[in-house]
Amino acid sequence: MKEDLLRSLPQVSKLLELYKDKYPEVYAKRAIKEVLERVRQEIKEGKRNSLEDLHTLVEESIKRRVQTQLRRVINATGVVINTNLGRSPLAEEVGQFVKHIATGYSNLEYDLEEGKRGSRSKLVEDYLIHLTGCESAFVVNNNASAVFLVLNTLASGKEVVVSRGELVEIGGSFRIPDIMRASGAKLIEVGTTNKTKLKDYQIAINQNTALLMKVHRSNFYMEGFVEEVKPEELLTFGLPVYYDAGSGMLIDIKKLGINSQEPDFKSSIQKGIHIVSGSADKLLGGPQAGIIIGKKDLIEPIRKNPLSRIVRIDKMTLAALEMTLRLYLEERYWDIPIFKMLTYKASELKRRALRLLRAIKKALPEVEVYLVKDFSKCGGGSLPELSLETYCVAVIHKKLTAQELDRILRSLDPPIIGRIKEDQLLLDVRTILDEELKMIPSLLAKAL
Ligand SMILES: *Cc1c(COP(=O)(O)O)cnc(C)c1O
Repeated sequence: MKEDLLRSLPQVSKLLELYKDKYPEVYAKRAIKEVLERVRQEIKEGKRNSLEDLHTLVEESIKRRVQTQLRRVINATGVVINTNLGRSPLAEEVGQFVKHIATGYSNLEYDLEEGKRGSRSKLVEDYLIHLTGCESAFVVNNNASAVFLVLNTLASGKEVVVSRGELVEIGGSFRIPDIMRASGAKLIEVGTTNKTKLKDYQIAINQNTALLMKVHRSNFYMEGFVEEVKPEELLTFGLPVYYDAGSGMLIDIKKLGINSQEPDFKSSIQKGIHIVSGSADKLLGGPQAGIIIGKKDLIEPIRKNPLSRIVRIDKMTLAALEMTLRLYLEERYWDIPIFKMLTYKASELKRRALRLLRAIKKALPEVEVYLVKDFSKCGGGSLPELSLETYCVAVIHKKLTAQELDRILRSLDPPIIGRIKEDQLLLDVRTILDEELKMIPSLLAKAL
């Protein structure tokens, strides 16, 4: 039986004949080989006794390969800074500037006035100085590298004092104690999980202490019997104070109407914190990058650390960062997508949800849709305490479960990623871009 089935497997070339006019041969050939290999294995392991679905499998596999692996998706999850979906989407003109710089040569490391070698990080330094009031700034490829670089430069072989309540893990693999160890700095834990006092730091400080570090808790918050020391209070010891602010908020976004307790770069600098770092793709709304700002005498050695070459920022990122920072400079906050999404009025969301609902109803009379009032999240380990009132469209199909429906939506081009709540598939309009909102009904009509 097994042998018969194995023998009846078609050859690669035979299958290729069927598909090569319809799809590019490179993708078809690899897909066919992969499917045949998999099916053969399944037969050998006794997991398969028919070849009925062979053509479906081949065609699906070809289709997957014909598309790029990295794809644009429609975020209907309602999580604004969705780490799995690429964190912050860039502003339209930021994207255009990236394309403009990336498809030609640029003065990335060339001083156009002097006609000699220049510094890439310097290209955005002035903006950061202007926007935050810091003395000096340095940018790297993400905040994890920024934290590592700060610790390695300022505290390798020495001690860094951190509160036990701040030994956080962010996004699976970034853990403060691990980064600390890798950087060569020795972690000195003080206080307890819920309470750390100024006295705890004082007791821990000795002649080997290089740095006092504060880590923003980012993805969780504590309530109840809690006490912590503010970063600026640590300045009393006369040692360098480093604040990993995480979310990278540049300005106080309360003035944009976002109810936030997150620390922002500008106020941290104003309070006199020596070094502050954060991500550029969280609440800054820019590309993946790590921003380090602070006192010149501390930033300079960080810049000169040979390891900074390993985590240097790329030209596309730098282009995106510069253009995003210009939007701040020009106070065009509403052109930054995450701010638009975070500050939608409930009435506006309701209007958008109703528009989507009616369009789906019209395109697919057989599916049931209705309006659901719910809450969206900021995400990206930012503003964990914030629940944003939102409106969603619940999509119900008589023959499909929410999970099956979700799977179908994920297979569309572009895929639509919704959220399942109480066995219902919800499309949260907060995170759906305007042009995407118009596409959804016809996308659904094709698949359902
Ligand atoms: C997100 C975060 C990081 C890691 O930043 P990436 O840009 O993801 O590398 C480090 N520290 C804190 C406090 C964070 O919130």
